[in-house]
Amino acid sequence: MKGTPSFGKASKGKSHIRCRRCGRHSFNVSKGRCSYCGFGASPKLRKYSWRR
Ligand SMILES: [Zn+2]
Repeated sequence: MKGTPSFGKASKGKSHIRCRRCGRHSFNVSKGRCSYCGFGASPKLRKYSWRR
């Protein structure tokens, strides 16, 4: 095996990015939604049922 052995916790790739709604670093890329404020679906989609 060369380089770093990939053990269970893979630290490559980001699971959370900056949420543009709440500004927290809780936007889950894999799920496509923020785990903090619930900003969900896709940033492209503009269908917010929670927004009145
Ligand atoms: Zn958020």
